[in-house]
Amino acid sequence: MKNNFKKKLIEIARWVNIEIEENNAAKYEQYRNEIEIWNKKVNLTSVKDEEEFMVKHIIDSLMVLKMIEIPFGVKIIDIGTGAGFPGIPIKISRRDLEIYLLDSNKKKTIFLENTIKNLGLKETYVLCGRAENYGKNMQFREKYDYAFARAVSALNVLLELCLPFVKLGGFFVALKGKEPEEEIVQSRGVFEILGGRLEDVIYYELPIGIKRSLVVVEKVGKTPIEYPRREGIPEKKPLF
Ligand code: SAM
Repeated sequence: MKNNFKKKLIEIARWVNIEIEENNAAKYEQYRNEIEIWNKKVNLTSVKDEEEFMVKHIIDSLMVLKMIEIPFGVKIIDIGTGAGFPGIPIKISRRDLEIYLLDSNKKKTIFLENTIKNLGLKETYVLCGRAENYGKNMQFREKYDYAFARAVSALNVLLELCLPFVKLGGFFVALKGKEPEEEIVQSRGVFEILGGRLEDVIYYELPIGIKRSLVVVEKVGKTPIEYPRREGIPEKKPLF
């Protein structure tokens, strides 16, 4: 039974031209098992079906690597990572990357700490707290080549939470649904205020026909020091 997970994952990934190595497939299975155990006490995911888990969580996260060429060894932060999406699947496939997993939910970060230890993932760090606070801390501000976020909030809010972490010349990538256009239009003025420039919108389809997109924002200017505003304000009073 156990080998079925690995075989099935490798096969499903091939439908979208993603090659998963056998030993990495074993890591994904271990990751799924950890989530299943912890999901009984911490709300990590509502996705219970195995195939749906593979597609909506693992393959969707790996799509970032398929669609965007991420250079060797760069530093990445996954903001509002929850159970580790997209950061952990990305790290399993690309061990050269230095990954920071940020979430404000203490229980989820305990799960993440435990899981990265059990999976033996090196250069993977967990940050527990709000993006608004970490983004103001000079140890983390403008220190990352890439920031990723999936299912955290609307783009106009996300830009304020995520762009402060990105170095000049780096990128913020928002994993969005099939129609991100409205959110992009709504965020028009926000890009400029925070030093971002819309670089690309990449559309893709998951194996079971679900359509998604990546909104890629380049950091072209420094983010003014007054951003992000204090905890909860970006969500309550979006810039536009
Ligand atoms: N990215 C994961 C995924 O796609 O499965 C989790 C998505 S979950 C719906 C949103 C997560 O973002 C939650 O775990 C929540 O605690 C976290 N979050 C929301 N706002 C945040 C903030 N301002 N700072 C840090 N984490 C935040």
